[in-house]
Amino acid sequence: MLALVKVAPGPGLELRDVPMPDVGINDVLIRVHKTGICGTDLHIDAWDNWASTAIRPPMVIGHEFVGEIVDVGSNVSDFHPGDLVSGEGHVTCGRCRHCMAGQRHLCANTVGLGVNRDGAFAEQVVLPVTNVWHHWPGIDEESAAIFDPFGNAVHTALSFPVLGEDVLVVGAGPIGLMAAAVARHAGARFVVASEPNPFRRDLALRMGATHVVDPAATSLAEVQRKLGMVEGFDVVMEMSGNATALRDALANMAHGGGMAILGIPTDEIPIDVGKVVFNQLTLRGIYGREMFETWYKMSVMLRSGLDIRPAITHRFSYRDHEAAFEAAASGESGKVLMDWTE
Ligand code: NAD
Ligand code: ZN
Repeated sequence: MLALVKVAPGPGLELRDVPMPDVGINDVLIRVHKTGICGTDLHIDAWDNWASTAIRPPMVIGHEFVGEIVDVGSNVSDFHPGDLVSGEGHVTCGRCRHCMAGQRHLCANTVGLGVNRDGAFAEQVVLPVTNVWHHWPGIDEESAAIFDPFGNAVHTALSFPVLGEDVLVVGAGPIGLMAAAVARHAGARFVVASEPNPFRRDLALRMGATHVVDPAATSLAEVQRKLGMVEGFDVVMEMSGNATALRDALANMAHGGGMAILGIPTDEIPIDVGKVVFNQLTLRGIYGREMFETWYKMSVMLRSGLDIRPAITHRFSYRDHEAAFEAAASGESGKVLMDWTE
């Protein structure tokens, strides 16, 4: 089968013929229909510091996908060929304290699809059945293809109650865009997206942000004044990984507010802990999705009118993977999809 492979240490990816994955007794074999390009894939393509320590080539990359089951292992009874599914990309150990307690998202032995094991940028991918999500009828394939990052957005956006609250989304990349839509859907009052990129500010408004701000031009204090806010943002969703942006957000939070931090910084970020103490703030790190409560909530919200499709701006065939990666890296894009069925 064809797959997009990091063949050896160094920049670049190759579309290659690779052996079909083995299907173990607890596994599900999936024919990939559509995939989404994540920032992680861009890091692996570019071969930065993180990638060179995390990836052991040769490795089939990619973890955002939707596809159709073609085969199941002998232990698998409730998934069948033809089912439309996506995969939870964090494969957990099943034996640690948290896994045993049903808190799989807290597993410290997580293996990443397309990072630590062969991934989904391929004609076929294999996953343990415990990582496979059966899509509900009525979920469109393009939204299904990005359930993984949509799950990051939902897990972050629902970390603190947002009904009637004023929300600041820091960074309107694909995940921030979807988080803004979720916050609005879940009943926030103001959903302010802070984003330096004008293309993405525009997308944020289309996704349901009530206001957008260019952090280089307008301070958050000014935004608060304009909106008639007096106490600061109740909920912050940090989705930029940017140190200055995180500190600015922290300085503009209401007493008792919560900050959910998804953005991955490149370095340590010093913060004003005094502010956290005296203003009684809660900072919460978010990694991945809750298995499978987040997936359930995603499905319910899509069925009750949430539309994440405006976040998808580009579609390519997998054969044009170079153009697809270029579009994803350009910043003049939301989510970029590759089709593997052509
Ligand atoms: P992205 O890089 O496309 O989005 C980040 C956005 O932040 C960009 O649009 C960028 O212009 C914006 N930004 C940069 N400086 C800013 C500033 N000063 N103020 C406001 N915005 C600023 O990434 P994404 O795919 O949307 O992911 C968002 C973040 O979440 C990234 O840091 C990514 O690495 C991280 N991530 C974390 C997890 C997790 O499980 N914790 C999973 C996936 C992605
Ligand atoms: Zn575990």
